Amino acid sequence: VKKSVAVLGLGSMGAALADALMVAGHEVSVWNRTPGRAEGLVARGARRAGSVAEAVTAGEIVLVCILDYGDIGPLLEQQGGGRAALQGRVVVNVTNGSPEEARAMAERVTALGAAYLDGGIMAVPEIIGSPDAFVLYSGSREAFEAHRSVLDAFARSVYLGEDPGLAPLHDLALLSGMYGMFGGFLHAAALVRSAGGSVAEFTTTLLQPWLGAMAGSLPAMAAQVDSGDYSVTGSPLAMQVAHDSIGEVSRAQGVSPELFAPLFALMERRVADGHGSEGLAGLVELVHPR
Ligand code: NDP
Repeated sequence: VKKSVAVLGLGSMGAALADALMVAGHEVSVWNRTPGRAEGLVARGARRAGSVAEAVTAGEIVLVCILDYGDIGPLLEQQGGGRAALQGRVVVNVTNGSPEEARAMAERVTALGAAYLDGGIMAVPEIIGSPDAFVLYSGSREAFEAHRSVLDAFARSVYLGEDPGLAPLHDLALLSGMYGMFGGFLHAAALVRSAGGSVAEFTTTLLQPWLGAMAGSLPAMAAQVDSGDYSVTGSPLAMQVAHDSIGEVSRAQGVSPELFAPLFALMERRVADGHGSEGLAGLVELVHPR
């Protein structure tokens, strides 16, 4: 079913989303604070809206993708024409923010008579519309179900629940996992470079397969975090912290251990607390005591 969508904010992400909607055949109206940025989209078939209010009234769905959360309230309430314009529409806000900001925005939008969906885009603009991308949604289930086919033009759509804060929270959780991996990569790369090795070759032949194999242990660790039972048979923490080999060798190689040290300090603390026979997953109790 073809629908009408207003896109507010045509930065690199907003423009990619608008293009994906047009490729899927939807009727797209575009608005950007700096009007020049709409040119390319208009040339490709988008309808140019002269104001936020004009865009909003042209779209059954109002997609917001701007830089700062703080600017969205005024954008919809004043420039967008407020309740008179927004009543009965669905606002999908994919601007990055915090769970608290998402909940507050849901209240403001609902007060204008519109349904609210918060979105967390797990993609860069270049892969919007490709199978690798996914977008997290939270907020109105009814709106998600009614318009899922439109949202699927961007990426795989994942609905997390009615609490609007769930999408930003899971977005940040995924980024945390990503940064952990990148931190590990950087330390490994520094060690290999310190010995004169090719980081590129090390990464493709050894590190990627190793991380793939290790990622396979995540579901079992996750089950431990859920249950609180951290007993293991293979690699107890006491064994893992018996020697700070990574720290010592790093220092000897002229590599600062600062990326790895915080994790090792937690491992030592967990052992000192009497959990040496348990596994690594128990460290979660130190950063988030249940
Ligand atoms: P850009 O810097 O490319 O574009 C920013 C956009 O926000 C522009 O359209 C700009 O308008 C608009 N804007 C800024 N302030 C205001 C305002 N006060 N009123 C109206 N419009 C305003 O950013 P992106 O498109 O990359 O990012 C947009 C959102 O998407 C951000 O929240 C970002 O976190 C999120 N995102 C981006 C990803 C990425 O890889 N790019 C990935 C995942 C999420 P103007 O042209 O007038 O300056």
